[in-house]
Amino acid sequence: MTAPRIEVDLVKIRQNARQLVDRLAQHGIAVTGVTKGVCGHPEIAQAMLDGGVQRLADARISNVERMRAAGIDAPVVLIRTPMRSQTDRVVRACGTSLNTDADVVRALAQSAVRAGVVHQVVLMVEMGDGREGVQPDELAGLARHVMGLDGVVLAGIGANFACLSGGAPHPSEMGKLSAFAAALEGDFGITLRTISGGNSASLPGLYRTGLRTRVNDLRLGEAILLGRDPVTRAPINGLSTDAFVLVAEIIESAADLPQPSVLRLPVPGAGESKSLLALGDQDTDISGLSMPVGMTRLGSSSDHLLLQTRGVALVAGSEVCFQPDYSALMRAMSAPDVEKVILDGAGADRPVRKPDRRPTLAQA
Ligand SMILES: *Cc1c(COP(=O)(O)O)cnc(C)c1O
Repeated sequence: MTAPRIEVDLVKIRQNARQLVDRLAQHGIAVTGVTKGVCGHPEIAQAMLDGGVQRLADARISNVERMRAAGIDAPVVLIRTPMRSQTDRVVRACGTSLNTDADVVRALAQSAVRAGVVHQVVLMVEMGDGREGVQPDELAGLARHVMGLDGVVLAGIGANFACLSGGAPHPSEMGKLSAFAAALEGDFGITLRTISGGNSASLPGLYRTGLRTRVNDLRLGEAILLGRDPVTRAPINGLSTDAFVLVAEIIESAADLPQPSVLRLPVPGAGESKSLLALGDQDTDISGLSMPVGMTRLGSSSDHLLLQTRGVALVAGSEVCFQPDYSALMRAMSAPDVEKVILDGAGADRPVRKPDRRPTLAQA
């Protein structure tokens, strides 16, 4: 087994998806499984589908094309406003995209007409996060623009929270979004199919209030993949938080390290030693790794991670396991030198790959 590698437990991802799908179904909300955190990895996307998500979504067309090339034919939503230069690719690979810009929508419509398809447009409303979306008072104008174009239909509206600046949305935001939808429907005599109430950050508010609104879709990435609330980092009840494990190999043990004074690092105390690992900023977001019990991070560079360990002597060639946060996960999944090892305990029809050498230490 090579290192560094990221071990992916498909059973846990499937179960997390299933839990969320079942809970949200009670609120009349379907789940869109967001795959950007795993760069559209097809087997992980399939695990989300097997867990019952209604459709998939990714921010990058390249990730969507990767899933299509692997044979995934479920509906896929592009959740970043398309680049004008990519609209031909967008209408080919995605049935729906989230949109915020009139010129992009016009280009999408032209691409759709050329391709002989009808592309569904969901308009994003800015509700406090400050990233994408039109102001509520511009929504009707943009909706009219969409409805006047051949090749696209107005499928719905949505909002995004807690990505750039805002915190988790207050439950009342779902009511506000519903009111925007109702206003559009009244103005234009239409019915909107999708009211998309945000990402994993929208979950706690919905659970707390048991609120029933027009919101009928949530776009969930982190909750399914890591089982955590993206704002508080707290584990979500009943979900697995360890579907992904990043494994790295020790390449130098304490005895070989330069004098601590040279590195201007703390001098090891009794029972403490240092270990150098072949894992660096090129492989992941080192600051987003949870350190195993008894280990602390002393520093990292592009290709190295230096750990201080207490009470354990680690030798070169042994391995250390880390749990990645969303940022570390995304970087590891896109890093060419990190091997992706898919583990699937269930289903005899799927290959089961077990690491031949378990890491020496359990993760924290
Ligand atoms: C990334 C993203 C999501 C998913 O966010 P999570 O916090 O991972 O659930 C949903 N919607 C949009 C627009 C996104 O960019």
